[in-house]
Amino acid sequence: MKARTISVPDLLERLESHYGPQEPCWPVYPYEFLIWWHCGYPASDDRCMRGWESLKRGLGIQPDRILAASQAQLAEALKPGGMVPELRAMRLQQIAQCVVNEYGGRLDSLFTGPIADVRKALKRFPNIADPGVDRILLFERKAPVAAVPSNCPHVLVRIIHGQEREDYGVTYREAQSIIESQLPEQFQARQRAFLLLKAHGQSICKRKPQCDRCPLQSDCAYAAGVTRGGRLQNS
Ligand code: SF4
Repeated sequence: MKARTISVPDLLERLESHYGPQEPCWPVYPYEFLIWWHCGYPASDDRCMRGWESLKRGLGIQPDRILAASQAQLAEALKPGGMVPELRAMRLQQIAQCVVNEYGGRLDSLFTGPIADVRKALKRFPNIADPGVDRILLFERKAPVAAVPSNCPHVLVRIIHGQEREDYGVTYREAQSIIESQLPEQFQARQRAFLLLKAHGQSICKRKPQCDRCPLQSDCAYAAGVTRGGRLQNS
């Protein structure tokens, strides 16, 4: 069976009917996002939120509070977020140090130059690559880039092309290109797409997809076993 080709606006409508309107579950202010991102490991919204709440309760998240704490205190506060709290504590102090030394304690001045410079500056923070930068730019409303959830770029590529690529970066860029070609370059439209694709990638279109309970099954190239080169094995 060959899947009908569904447009991105239509599939987002379908996902919104299934999951309801979505809101970011992370702090969108860039400094807070950088801290939140290191509050859990392996990274997940739940673990990051547990570590984040514990850190806020125990020590605070402001750069001066993080720098005044010992790494042992920070690691203790980060424990509810999962593994390697000592390493994450070290990363938090690196972030706080950079924000104080280079940006006077607030990241606002980082965003004043051209987007290429902003991107380069953000990537100097630990564990921030293009997907993290895209998310910050989009949700901080600095540029309406085609951000794709870093843990599930495969969702859109499966639906439209039938199969994600083996290379993560290629899959990510393919998903970006689909968004760029079908959604307006507007914050609201692209934030909505990010959030709905994230919800779908986390609950149904996981690494091992649950196609039999998916609201997009009848229009998904992956579910129909269609790829550019032939039939897929879906299980
Ligand atoms: S049908 Fe399967 S592969 Fe397609 S979007 Fe749904 S869960 Fe993902």
